[in-house]
Amino acid sequence: MKGVSIEEAIKISCKIPVEKKTEIVSLDDSIHRILAYDIISKVNDPRFDNSSMDGWAVKAKDCKKNGTILEIIGTNKTGSYISHSIKSGQACRIMTGAPIPKGADAIVIIEDTDIQGNNVIINGPARTEYVRKCGENISKGDKSLLGGTMLNSAEISLLATVGYDELEVIQRPKIAIISTGDELVRPGGKLLDGQIYESNSFGLSALVKKVGCEPIRFDIVQDTVDALRDALNEASKTCDAILTSGGVSMGKWDLVRKIMEEEGEIEFWKIKMRPGGPPLFGRWKKTPLFGLPGNPVSSHVVFIMLVFPWLSFSLGFDREKGPKLADRVNVVLETPLKGAPDKICLRRIKIINKNGILKATTNTHQGSGNINSMVTHNGLSLLPPNKDAKKDEIIDALWLR
Ligand code: AMP
Ligand code: MG
Repeated sequence: MKGVSIEEAIKISCKIPVEKKTEIVSLDDSIHRILAYDIISKVNDPRFDNSSMDGWAVKAKDCKKNGTILEIIGTNKTGSYISHSIKSGQACRIMTGAPIPKGADAIVIIEDTDIQGNNVIINGPARTEYVRKCGENISKGDKSLLGGTMLNSAEISLLATVGYDELEVIQRPKIAIISTGDELVRPGGKLLDGQIYESNSFGLSALVKKVGCEPIRFDIVQDTVDALRDALNEASKTCDAILTSGGVSMGKWDLVRKIMEEEGEIEFWKIKMRPGGPPLFGRWKKTPLFGLPGNPVSSHVVFIMLVFPWLSFSLGFDREKGPKLADRVNVVLETPLKGAPDKICLRRIKIINKNGILKATTNTHQGSGNINSMVTHNGLSLLPPNKDAKKDEIIDALWLR
C-alpha cells in the first residue's frame, strides 16, 4: 500500500509484530525491565495490624482525658511474634511496625506520655489512625502490578513487599540498526569533501534502549545492493527486527526501497506525515523491517510515531506504566504554525508551562535535516492535514520525554 495514514500504518505493522519472548530476572537486576505478566500479591500489606508510631497501644475510650494513668503490661517490639493483649486501664509499649496488642485500638505517641513506675501517664490524644490495618494497602491475591509495566524504584520496592525475588520480564528483542549512505562517516573519523558524520544509528539506538529493547548497531552500509543485501541477511539471522535508515525515497540510490521491492516484501510505503513521509514497512526473510528516512529529524519522528506504537503493541506495554516517549497534551500556540497539504504536520515546538497553561513556540529552522531542532524544542505539533494554526489557537501536541 502506498501513502497511508499514521493509523493505517500502525494497524498494518501490528499484523507483523516482533515476537514477545520472556525471561526470568532477579529483583536486583530488574530496573527498567518490563513485566511480562500481572503480579499477584503473595501477602497482605500491611501483613498485620501494626503501629505507625513509637508510643503506647491503648483503648481509645480509656484516654479521653489528659492525665489518665494506665498500667504498663509489656512491650510489643517489631519482629516479636508474641503479642500482648490489653484490658481497660492498661497500655502496652509499642514500636513503629510492631503488631497491635489484642484489645488495643489506638496509639498515644511517646512524646505525649510520662512514665511513673509501672504506669504511663497519658497527656495527649489516642489516635486510631496510627493503627495501620492489615491489608489496607494491598490484599493477598490482589493484582499489584500489571504486565507491561516498566520497573522503576517504587515498583521494585512493591515487588519485594508482595514477596517476589525474581520475575518474568520481557526479553529485550534485538533490533538491528543499519544506516545506509555513501556520504556517511562514523563520528570522530576523518571527513573528506562531501562526507558527513553518521548520526541516525546512534539516536535510534538510544530510542531503542529507552523503550526496553536491545539495539544492535551495524557498521555503515555503502549504497550498493550487494552490501545492503549482506547486511540485511546478517541482521535477519541475528536479530528480531530491523530498522534501516536512509535510502527509502525516490532517488536513484535509494536502495532500501529498491531491494525491498525486488527481494523483500513491502506492506506499506510512504506515510501521510511531515516530516517523515517516506518510510516503508515489510519483511526481509521473515524478519520485520522498518525502513526509516535518512533525514535525522524524520528518522526520530518516525520512530516515535510508528516504530514505538508497533513495539508497544508487539510486546504488550501498559499504556500508563509501560515505556513512554511522549505525553499527548493540548497547547496554546504563541506563534502561528503552518500545516501541510494532505499530511499530518509534526512541527517541532517548545512547550512551556506558564502558570498552569501549556504554551508552545517555535524557535529554530524546522528542516527535517536539522536534528538541533529536536534538541532546542521538546514537543511535536499534531496538526491535522491541510490545517494552519493561528496564534492563541489550542492544538494537540506530543510533549516529548
Ligand atoms: P536519504 O534518506 O538516504 O535520501 O538521506 C536523506 C538525507 O539524510 C541526506 O541529506 C543524508 O545525507 C542524510 N542522512 C542519511 N542517513 C543519515 C545518517 N545515518 N546520519 C545522518 N544523516 C543521514
Ligand atoms: Mg541515502
